[in-house]
Amino acid sequence: MKILVTGGAGYIGSHVVKALGEEGHELLVYDNLSTGHDWAILYGKLVKGELADSRCLDEAFSAFKPEAVLHFAASIQVEESVRKPLRYYRNNVSNSLNLLDAMERHGVRNLIYSSTAAVYGIPDRMPADETMPLNPINPYGTSKVMMETVLRDIASAGNFRYIALRYFNVAGADAQSRIGQAYADATHLITRALKTAHGEYPKLSVFGTDYPTADGTCIRDYIHVDDLADAHIRALNYLVETGRTEIMNCGYGHGFSVKEVVSVAKKVTGIDFPVEETDRRAGDPPELIADSTKLRRLTGWQPRHDDLEFIIQTAWDWELKYSSRLKANL
Ligand code: UDP
Repeated sequence: MKILVTGGAGYIGSHVVKALGEEGHELLVYDNLSTGHDWAILYGKLVKGELADSRCLDEAFSAFKPEAVLHFAASIQVEESVRKPLRYYRNNVSNSLNLLDAMERHGVRNLIYSSTAAVYGIPDRMPADETMPLNPINPYGTSKVMMETVLRDIASAGNFRYIALRYFNVAGADAQSRIGQAYADATHLITRALKTAHGEYPKLSVFGTDYPTADGTCIRDYIHVDDLADAHIRALNYLVETGRTEIMNCGYGHGFSVKEVVSVAKKVTGIDFPVEETDRRAGDPPELIADSTKLRRLTGWQPRHDDLEFIIQTAWDWELKYSSRLKANL
């Protein structure tokens, strides 16, 4: 298939581009390279452009004639979204509307949309399934709920269908260390812990130890990025074969606390890096675990890397390679 991938130079997008390329699809990455890198695109071509730029989008759609779009380009940091909400509504909502307009103008009716567990807010049942109410507690989650609502309405109006994948905590890297998380100010726990082990930060902050969990720290369902990439391939096949709009959670169905992640990171790296317990970070729910029964049932998806040590090992291998590469460029 001919597939246009927005944000394909970024962390998750580049792993999905790798998986799609390995399946033989023809790919066009549309990315402004604000956080992504052209070297991360292992297959297909790049158009460097803004989603806000309808003319650039039109040119890309006219020249490439995609049959489907995978939309990864978005801002994703919960805490930043609390401080800069407008940025999140601009990037995640307004720019997505622009993309949807372009899809409509060019008759492209298949979309895989990147959503998030943050749409659930603080779920009253765990694991969270797709039928749970959407009560986001931060602008990031709200921006994704807004887009899910838009998509629902466009799909019911007619000639458009989509699958929204609600990601839980995506982590790890390509097992061959060709690509991985590569932005300077990464705030995610595993990346932050590994950068601390590597000496890039003096210590790792554990945000909150008074949550209602066994050890007082937040619990998350960490999913390896290649398992998530495989979920996209399967979701796309499902969408094209059945023409059915669906929403599916992506996670393993069990979680680890911040303290557990820290201890595995210390074990994998062999480095006893400094850790400090601090106040809670704004916008963090205590626990997020996916019920991914639907994804498994409808697409046949099965995790291949459900192993926190493997996830952290691949992230660590990548971190070492990426930082030596950065040094070499200096
Ligand atoms: N966290 C932490 N220290 C950090 C980064 C994250 O204690 O330096 C915690 C954060 O408060 C949350 C969990 O780790 O409870 C996962 O956060 P992350 O930013 O990785 O993902 P999120 O769940 O916010 O998407």
